Amino acid sequence: MKIVVLSRQPNLYSTKRLVEAGKKLGHEMQVIDHLKCNIELEKKKPKIYYQGGYLENIDAVIPRIGASVTFYGTAVVRQFEMMKIFTAVESQALVRSRDKLRSLQLLARAGVGLPKTVFTNFSKNVEHVVDSVGGAPVILKLLEGTQGLGVILAESQNAAGSVMEAFNGIEARIIVQEFIKEAGGADIRVFIVDGVVVGAMKRQGKEGEFRSNLHRGGTASIIELTEEEENTALIAARAMGLGVAGVDLLQSEKGPLVLEVNSSPGLEGIEKATGKDIAKKIIRYVERNA
Ligand code: ADP
Ligand code: GLU
Repeated sequence: MKIVVLSRQPNLYSTKRLVEAGKKLGHEMQVIDHLKCNIELEKKKPKIYYQGGYLENIDAVIPRIGASVTFYGTAVVRQFEMMKIFTAVESQALVRSRDKLRSLQLLARAGVGLPKTVFTNFSKNVEHVVDSVGGAPVILKLLEGTQGLGVILAESQNAAGSVMEAFNGIEARIIVQEFIKEAGGADIRVFIVDGVVVGAMKRQGKEGEFRSNLHRGGTASIIELTEEEENTALIAARAMGLGVAGVDLLQSEKGPLVLEVNSSPGLEGIEKATGKDIAKKIIRYVERNA
């Protein structure tokens, strides 16, 4: 098969691994920069122009779309869909996953555990907002944040109020969330391909850091999931409509709570922590569907 990896960075670990795994299984692999694709629209003739020619005879695409280029990237993925080419991540699911609020609404409906969350268009009533997620300390999150940037721990109601006011001043939208203290600066990343858990790791934030993101200096280790954790992650991925997903869970006194569902989950952390060939699982998933 001819499989395209949509990625802006051919040298990124995840991109390289997908190409390597695809070649090993006998496929023709091509890395295409979605930002360099032209989408051509004409009655019944969807086309993509890329580096001097039209893309042809492609069997499947594996999108690796960065958060900063979601709009353009998903438009390109949608165009591949218009050309009746299988995509490992549907454009709709990708868009959905990039909106933290919409994601939490869908996850809440699906019945998975979540940290209590409030979305506010900055009411003057900070007290009510903070109280409704269980009182200070609380977590404040920029809706557009990623890699742990834009996630703030406010120790007191006053601090929470100041942060809300500051973000409101620059028209940045935020959610206010219950702080799950007992998670102890750790979270669990569950990697799911085609409705099956293919790997899981625990990420621990560095000393004195409540954020466990690897980008923020966290460290990863392999973990055995409980049945409840596994089921929660699978329901979350299904609710989001993602064939490939990285579900982040917090371990709490109330059981596993879903933080977010990532539609371009990185391969480096999970492959190194688990020693598993996750890239191959993704290629196998593509083979079954293209
Ligand atoms: P991002 O998408 O930027 O990674 P997250 O919502 O995943 O943002 O938050 C980053 C990290 O902060 C999480 O991995 C977790 O370790 C910590 N964290 C986030 N929300 C909470 C919370 N409500 N309670 C405790 N820790 C949290
Ligand atoms: N996009 C990265 C991933 O999904 C974020 C990793 C991190 O949170 O540090 O794995």
